[in-house]
Amino acid sequence: MINRRQAIGAAATLAVATAATQLVTPGTALAAQTGWASCPKCQSLWWPNTPYAIPCRAGGHHTKDGSFSYQVKVQSDGGAGQNDWRSCAACQCLWWSGGTAGRCAGDPNGHRISSYAIGKSWYYLVEFEPQFPSERHQRGWRSCANCSVLFFTPVGGPNGRCASGGRHEPVGSWKYLLRY
Ligand SMILES: [Zn+2]
Ligand SMILES: [Zn+2]
Ligand SMILES: [Zn+2]
Repeated sequence: MINRRQAIGAAATLAVATAATQLVTPGTALAAQTGWASCPKCQSLWWPNTPYAIPCRAGGHHTKDGSFSYQVKVQSDGGAGQNDWRSCAACQCLWWSGGTAGRCAGDPNGHRISSYAIGKSWYYLVEFEPQFPSERHQRGWRSCANCSVLFFTPVGGPNGRCASGGRHEPVGSWKYLLRY
């Protein structure tokens, strides 16, 4: 049995998607955080580097089977793209925080930027598809109109599973690109 105090202490050493745990020297540009994964079941981008099993709307828990290790840029480093993306402490997905809290597979109140065990998320920046993608660029990423999560939908392919029920909704989304 682990008590709350121990849980908080342990959290400080986790490689979660928070500013407090990044191994960077002061003043160094972060540029990007590597290690994000797409879940093959719900097709959402999520941060798998925690010791917790993270609930997946498609059933069970997210996995990273067969996924690339993706990079997501940190907003404070600037650059072209869309700001205000954050990681959710409950479902660990990358979601756009500029609208509503979205529907979350891990919290009935919607996505959240921190929890008792997971520190506050950074702000991230997601790039739009360039006119001429190059190697290690992957197109086909969209934000879901219902849950606000970034998810992968190859041309003509399925749209994963959404925390709001059914599949993610790509209508109205910008076209995003991830690097790996
Ligand atoms: Zn999943
Ligand atoms: Zn969530
Ligand atoms: Zn969705």
